[in-house]
Amino acid sequence: MTTLAATATTDTIHIALILTALAVVTLGYGLLCWLYPFGHCRRCHGTGRRPSPLGKHFRLCRRCDGTGRTIRPGRHVLNYLRDKGTR
Ligand SMILES: [Zn+2]
Repeated sequence: MTTLAATATTDTIHIALILTALAVVTLGYGLLCWLYPFGHCRRCHGTGRRPSPLGKHFRLCRRCDGTGRTIRPGRHVLNYLRDKGTR
């Protein structure tokens, strides 16, 4: 009986640690998206250029319009929540 009680307490501590870690990671990502809304474009790796189909020339990346930066997904969520609050 005592081992079961000790196991339940350990599981509770583990769940609390996991929830705390998730909260820290979520808040950290939210803070990152708030301070730095733009991230490197994943398609062109932040260069803004893509090789042409023949490989001799470069074209502007269509995903980021040649800027090399795109809005982070978390920032889209923050923008949605902000716009939803003003309506
Ligand atoms: Zn790009």
